[in-house]
Amino acid sequence: MAGTKYVYDFEEGGREMKFLLGGKGANLAEMTNMGLPVPPGFTVSTDACKAYLAAGGFPESLVEEIAEHVAGLEKKMGKNLGDSLDPLMVSVRSGAAFSMPGMMDTILNLGLNDVSVEGLAKQAENPRFAYDSYRRFIQMFGKVVMSVPAERFEHAIEAAKKAKGVEMDTDLDAGDMKALVETFKGIVRESAGRDFPTEPMEQLKLSVTAVFSSWNNRRAIDYRRLYKISDDLGTAVNICTMVYGNKGGNSGTGVSFTRDPATGANQAYGDYLFNAQGEDVVAGIRTPLHIDDLKEALPDCYAQLIGIMKTLENHYRDMCDIEFTVEQGTLYMLQTRVGKRTAGAALKIAVDMVAEGLISKDEAVSRIEPEQLDQLLHPQFDPKATYPVLTKGMNASPGAAVGKVVFDADDAEAAAARGEKVILVREETTPDDLHGMIAAKGILTSRGGKTSHAAVVARGMGKPCVCGADAVRISYSEKLFKVGDTVIKEGDLISIDGTTGRVVGGAVDLVEPSPTGDFGTVLGWADEARHMQVRANADTPGDARKAREFGAEGIGLCRTEHMFLGERRPIVERVILATSEAEEKEALAKLLDLQRSDFVEIFEVMDGLPVTIRLLDPPLHEFLPGLVDLAVEVAVMEAKGVPEAELKPRRSLLAQVNKMHEANPMLGLRGVRLGIMHPALFRMQVRAIMEAACLRKKAGGDPRVEIMIPLVAEVEELRQIRAESEAEIAAVLAERGIQVDYMIGTMIELPRAALTAGEIAEEAEFFSFGTNDLTQTTWGFSRDDVEAKFLPLYLDRRILKSNPFETLDQAGVGRLISLGVEAGRATRPDLKVGLCGEHGGDSDSVKFCHKVGLNYVSCSPYRVPLARLAAAQAVLGEGSSSK
Ligand code: ADP
Ligand code: MG
Ligand code: MG
Repeated sequence: MAGTKYVYDFEEGGREMKFLLGGKGANLAEMTNMGLPVPPGFTVSTDACKAYLAAGGFPESLVEEIAEHVAGLEKKMGKNLGDSLDPLMVSVRSGAAFSMPGMMDTILNLGLNDVSVEGLAKQAENPRFAYDSYRRFIQMFGKVVMSVPAERFEHAIEAAKKAKGVEMDTDLDAGDMKALVETFKGIVRESAGRDFPTEPMEQLKLSVTAVFSSWNNRRAIDYRRLYKISDDLGTAVNICTMVYGNKGGNSGTGVSFTRDPATGANQAYGDYLFNAQGEDVVAGIRTPLHIDDLKEALPDCYAQLIGIMKTLENHYRDMCDIEFTVEQGTLYMLQTRVGKRTAGAALKIAVDMVAEGLISKDEAVSRIEPEQLDQLLHPQFDPKATYPVLTKGMNASPGAAVGKVVFDADDAEAAAARGEKVILVREETTPDDLHGMIAAKGILTSRGGKTSHAAVVARGMGKPCVCGADAVRISYSEKLFKVGDTVIKEGDLISIDGTTGRVVGGAVDLVEPSPTGDFGTVLGWADEARHMQVRANADTPGDARKAREFGAEGIGLCRTEHMFLGERRPIVERVILATSEAEEKEALAKLLDLQRSDFVEIFEVMDGLPVTIRLLDPPLHEFLPGLVDLAVEVAVMEAKGVPEAELKPRRSLLAQVNKMHEANPMLGLRGVRLGIMHPALFRMQVRAIMEAACLRKKAGGDPRVEIMIPLVAEVEELRQIRAESEAEIAAVLAERGIQVDYMIGTMIELPRAALTAGEIAEEAEFFSFGTNDLTQTTWGFSRDDVEAKFLPLYLDRRILKSNPFETLDQAGVGRLISLGVEAGRATRPDLKVGLCGEHGGDSDSVKFCHKVGLNYVSCSPYRVPLARLAAAQAVLGEGSSSK
């Protein structure tokens, strides 16, 4: 595409251009135009990246365009790249539309070579600084552009320190650094098979290429998958004039949040390192100072910094995070963005900002990411538990976790695959540990602060993290860590509490938390905004109670299967295998008593709120002994010559079980089909429900009964079952001499039901889309089979963008839903329509339900808050601001 503009000076951009310039570039432009002290530079757009990745090479005009902007920058700065007297240096920084911390690469000090390093040394009157910068550049460039293994450089530094008998990088002088430069160049030559490139424009072109390519490195791909970021966006590249935080004691570099990202407290929270460059702060190389310590050391810079943070908050009307560098007393801003925060902090900040008049209630509601609320429902240490605290670190990401210690990301992944709970223990984490962090229940590090990689990533994942626990001494080779004399080995259990920073040897009891005041406030605002109701899927009184606590407005799905299992199973077996009517009746009467009391309790907990009870759904054989086990048992009995009298009943049971065996039970005798085959079972359930309702009503309660018939495909099935049920209901009400209202409806979980919803609505007062089964039957997927076998591959190969069992497939299943709603309401305008199924607890799916006009969604009790929030955001017309 000739004539396309690919490169933008910071003055030409703005925050609204994040898809073109990436978040970093757009915000650097925004800050530049706000008049904040940003070192000048320009951004190569994501369009250039996309063109590069598509063609496998630079778009034709790009090199020239970059050269023009470099020339412009040189003119503005009065310095030239590679100059022997006063050289210009730049950084080359990746930056996609959505922040992907540390996932792609950045190169600092570009433009240095054997000539310009002398210029830098002279100009700065500091040869150590110049050679330190040069060796850093070779190190980063070697790793990122020339694929030299990073540890080769690190070993060389260690060797240099050892030879000199010192411990810190800062103890190496100019001569040592100069020697390291030569060593590093040797490493590059040997490892990459070519010399380190000295021509600045070549360095620049290679670096831009490397940043483009890093869009597709493993950790970037992993990160996008985890956060559902599209692979198609590409990254921009920012070329930014270097400023130096490693120019001595009145220089340094830092990162900060405008408020505390863990608690939301309204105070700047950050780390600062004197005499350091770039990543030194987050890499945990030295333990940083708190931002407040700057106040004494550099009072003017500190005041300016606090002022800028306030300006940014007022401008972005949100909490921001920043990167900054102080070069010999002068402050520079290197990055800002709306900051990531824990769910607790997000709620507090939103509530505070409404009080401060910065944002409206609706904005507060729109800003909270529904999926994040989950974090607040994470377990905590039981406040009643007593335990010796092994050590304390920083409370970097809240929630508690118990698990076996592992020291390596691959080990964490392998253990999790075996179903084990693990805590990943590392000195610090890097982006290469991401897969291990995903697999672990919690993360413990011995170095780094609240802005370290471990802390930032854990908070994003909503995982407990304790970091910078410096009493923890790890030996990776022996696979153990020590705190004082205590030794904890790989596989030992530990507990960490990311809310307090505590680390405990052994397992501490965990308890469910009770959500905070801010949680209630924001959800209250959400309730004012939303139109859809939110119910819960709850099978037991305990679940129902939890659901009400979280704000459920009824039960959308009460499954009765479990009421037939456990110690009640033999009774069901008797119903099924009864040889006489009397025997069947007796067993049914037992079940009736049990079921009635189940329902009384649930109606009581949900008093005044609708309760949808689904009649028995699973295949009958689930209540019978396993075919293979039984066949073996009989064969063994026969071989042993067990007397015929004892053998006979087992044999006839085997014959029955054999008869009921189905090749494909999922598509066999279940749901309404079972009700047609064994009418007595459904009748008993209907009776139990209505008798329970009568009891509640007599006791002064307000039961709201909704009876749901599962797996209907054809209206005639429903018509017949409905007639039988209504006869039974009439009998119960007559016996009890009381009137109780009820509704009869159906679950729509077969494509045919959705397609004939117009007819089905003649017999149904409500529909509930059972999207788990509807997804299985629409796709022809058996969930357990596909998730265990090929679904991961489908996701990997992008055949599917997301798991249709987690996020509703709007194009297919969603289309059936909207057809069904429309046809159903055409027949019966006041038809109540809901959705039950895990999708009711997925925010995108909830938003879809709002769009197609459902009356309610129903989800697991713990997801109710999420669904309330998502339903409100659907009305307010937008999701979270961070993604
Ligand atoms: P990331 O997205 O991983 O944070 P950045 O592009 O922000 O990567 O850069 C990595 C580090 O280098 C950061 O600490 C940043 O502040 C620092 N840095 C980037 N550009 C410059 C520059 N021009 N001068 C000084 N430091 C810089
Ligand atoms: Mg950065
Ligand atoms: Mg079903």
